[in-house]
Amino acid sequence: MKILVVNAGSSSLKYQLFDMDEHRVIAKGNCEKIGIGGFVTHKRPGKDDYAAEVTLKDHDDAITLVLKLLTDAELGVIATVDEIDAIGHRVAHGGKLKESTLVSDETLEYLYSIVGINPLHGPPAIKGIEACRKACPNKPMVCVFDTAFHSTMEPVSYIYPLPYEYYEQFGLRRYGFHGTSHRYVAGRVAELVGKPLCELKVITCHLGNGSSITAIKNGKVVDTTMGFTPNEGVPMGTRCGTIDPTIVPYLMKQLNVTPDEMDNILNKKSGLLGVSGVSSDCREVNAAADAGNARAKLAIDQLIHYTKKIIGSYVAEMNGVDAIVFTAGIGENDRKLRQSICTDMDFVGIKMDNERNAECPRGTACDLTAEGSRAKVYVIPTDEEYMIALDTQKIANA
Ligand code: ADP
Repeated sequence: MKILVVNAGSSSLKYQLFDMDEHRVIAKGNCEKIGIGGFVTHKRPGKDDYAAEVTLKDHDDAITLVLKLLTDAELGVIATVDEIDAIGHRVAHGGKLKESTLVSDETLEYLYSIVGINPLHGPPAIKGIEACRKACPNKPMVCVFDTAFHSTMEPVSYIYPLPYEYYEQFGLRRYGFHGTSHRYVAGRVAELVGKPLCELKVITCHLGNGSSITAIKNGKVVDTTMGFTPNEGVPMGTRCGTIDPTIVPYLMKQLNVTPDEMDNILNKKSGLLGVSGVSSDCREVNAAADAGNARAKLAIDQLIHYTKKIIGSYVAEMNGVDAIVFTAGIGENDRKLRQSICTDMDFVGIKMDNERNAECPRGTACDLTAEGSRAKVYVIPTDEEYMIALDTQKIANA
């Protein structure tokens, strides 16, 4: 069975074609600069990469190009589009939808109805789905939501301490994001520990350009750091994460800025970039900190500080932890940061073996647990696309 996974952003459309029987990616790529020019990269394992400037007016053009490349006599990997059995779409926000869902008119109607609470990621995801529907009208398609895995949270975790009617009127609640990644690495932890997830207490740390941490008890998410939007919790590349909310009206008055301008400050100018003044990229902030830049060091120390704080609170919330896992760009690659986070955590049962941590090759899953640690410590590369392909396969087959 072959599954195409599509991840549509406002000006990009990433794709991966999976051969599920052989458990591998047979082609992947990215259409960029949609609507403002056009550039495509197309990769196949063991073969030369292809990259070209193209004209991409919209997402329809992008998906037409993807299907053309996949079936191209020279660059392709399949003979015809008929070989693709189903298409899985990454959709950031599923609102009330609690699990991956077959695309139908009703699904699309619902996604349109929640654009108000998901203005950034909703419209491009819908465009991606509609473009695929036009290009392949009879192919089964599935939406896999970043929010779905977190739908097991109880009201005590997801209701904000605001007037309750705003939850009812505006759907103002914590949804959580990166759910597909948290679900994937939690499943891998269960395999590595050798126990079912429903018997484990796991903390998954997805630390990347956007970061979120999730507490999973007996297979269910009990808490996660991201909330109504992906700007809650730990500081990120350009997002501030949790701050005193009264700062927002205060700063708006001081700077005389509009709500949109304030939103831009909180989402695009804060976090690692805002504090360091150097970059949103953790590698560049690390390099500046190593070279003696005090604000860069503060930004990194802050990421460590907030992450430790959350892990400690999640251990308290779950009354213990059996395993903690690091994933995503920073979590998978930054050994020093992993070590700093796990230093002086033995009181809550977490001890990392610093040698194992230093020796873990990039891109592989490693057990970093030190002798005497009550909790297992892992680094596991995430694979959201494979998770989407698996859900798509399951639902399309059903
Ligand atoms: P996104 O949220 O865009 O998917 P990623 O998960 O790819 O982000 O993470 C990007 C982040 O990972 C960047 O801040 C980048 O600097 C960081 N990163 C990648 N490699 C390293 C590394 N070797 N050391 C530290 N940080 C790294």
